[in-house]
Amino acid sequence: MKMDFEKSKSKIIKVQEMKTAGVNVEDAEIIVSCGRGLKDKNDIKMIQELADVLKGKTVGCSRPLAADLKWLPEEHWIGLSGHKVKPKLYIAAGISGQIQHIAGMRDSGIIVAINKDPEAPIFELADFGIVGDIFTILPELISEIKKVLDAR
Ligand SMILES: Cc1cc2nc3c(=O)[nH]c(=O)nc-3n(C[C@H](O)[C@H](O)[C@H](O)COP(=O)(O)OP(=O)(O)OC[C@H]3O[C@@H](n4cnc5c(N)ncnc54)[C@H](O)[C@@H]3O)c2cc1C
Repeated sequence: MKMDFEKSKSKIIKVQEMKTAGVNVEDAEIIVSCGRGLKDKNDIKMIQELADVLKGKTVGCSRPLAADLKWLPEEHWIGLSGHKVKPKLYIAAGISGQIQHIAGMRDSGIIVAINKDPEAPIFELADFGIVGDIFTILPELISEIKKVLDAR
C-alpha cells in the first residue's frame, strides 16, 4: 500500500525542546523512577529518599507525572517523548511499563520493577520484580538498604 503524505491529515503544529533545569537523567548511573502508582505529589519524597539512600539521587518519572499532573518537571520524564536513559540500575515504582515508557529506559543495566499488578507489562522487561504495594515495599527497602550501608 502506498502512503500519500501530501494528503495526510496530520500536521506538526509546534516543535518544542524539553525544558531542563539541572537534573540530568540521561547521565545518571542510578534512577529511581515513579509513575501513577503514586497517590499524591508528596509521595515523591519517598522516591527521592530511596534515590538518596542509593547515592544515585536521581528521580525519574513516567509521562503522566510530568506532563499531566505536573508533580515533577519535564527533566525527570523518561520515555519515547521524554529522555532516553541507560543507568546501571533503574527502579520503576508504580509504573505499568507501557511501550512509550519502555522506549526510554530499555537499555538500562539492571531493571527492578515494583508493582501491585503481577500482570503489569514492566515485569516482562524487569530483571527483578517485586509484586506489592509501593507504600509498603519502598519504606522497607529504604530501611533494609540503610541497615546494610550502616553495617559497612
Ligand atoms: C505519543 C505518546 C507518547 C508517550 N510518551 C511517553 C513517554 O515518553 N513516557 C511515558 O512514561 N509515557 C509516555 N506515554 C504514555 C504511556 O502510553 C502511558 O500512558 C504512561 O507511560 C503510563 O504511565 P504510568 O505507568 O505511570 O501509569 P499507569 O499506566 O496508570 O500505571 C500505573 C501503575 O501503577 C501500579 N500501581 C498503582 N498503585 C500502586 C501501588 N500502590 N503499589 C504498586 N503499584 C501500583 C498499577 O498497577 C499500574 O501498573 C506516551 C503516550 C503517547 C500516546
